[in-house]
Amino acid sequence: MSLQLQMLGTGSAFAKRYYNNNGLLSIDRFTLLIDCGITAPQALHHLNKPMEDIDAVLITHIHGDHVGGLEELAFRMKYVHGRKPVLYVPEPLAQPLWENTLKGGLGQDGIEKLEDAFTVHLLREGETAALAPGLALEIMRTPHIPGKNSYSLYINDEIFYSADMIFQPKLLSELVYQRGCRKILHEVQLTGRGEVHTTLEELLSLPANIRDKIYLMHYGDEMEAFIEQAQEMEFLRQHEVYTL
Ligand SMILES: [Zn+2]
Ligand SMILES: [Zn+2]
Repeated sequence: MSLQLQMLGTGSAFAKRYYNNNGLLSIDRFTLLIDCGITAPQALHHLNKPMEDIDAVLITHIHGDHVGGLEELAFRMKYVHGRKPVLYVPEPLAQPLWENTLKGGLGQDGIEKLEDAFTVHLLREGETAALAPGLALEIMRTPHIPGKNSYSLYINDEIFYSADMIFQPKLLSELVYQRGCRKILHEVQLTGRGEVHTTLEELLSLPANIRDKIYLMHYGDEMEAFIEQAQEMEFLRQHEVYTL
């Protein structure tokens, strides 16, 4: 039983060559969609993957490139497949996700709250959630935008999947040296100052034995020009299937 990851997209919020940074994490016949952004329905269509094959969706934070596809997912599952999608959501995000993002589109008679549109599982920091045999994860709150909660994932106690986040070298060191983290799937901003993201330059300042565990995602359209500069850090390619 091995974990597989296929990114629906690996692009930053403004990327146009790449779909939104959303990932399909699979083990045996269970498939979790990590984030469901604006382009997720289009990317699934491109890959010829029916939405009904997704067993659950997990949200890391409330930005369009991570939640903008949830309305279509919920409506399609309701009207085409006759069931509610399973939604894993960090507890503090559940209310704002409904009130501030989804209610305007999904709200109607019979759909008055998040639980009417999704089968909701709340995730709490410090607790490990078992999603399927062989797949457990915990959420870790990581800084992204002031006043906005964002949660990275620690999968099977050995794989870190970053949400959009500001550089956290101490966390990355602790994960590798104290918790035996084997792989780090990390967002990256290739140019400019990393005010709400982690820059390539910042990641390059990490020791080589952390860098060689890092796979880069959530990047801009100019990615190809940075392959050499990224040294031992590999860029994840959208739609390619990786064994984690
Ligand atoms: Zn993003
Ligand atoms: Zn974001």
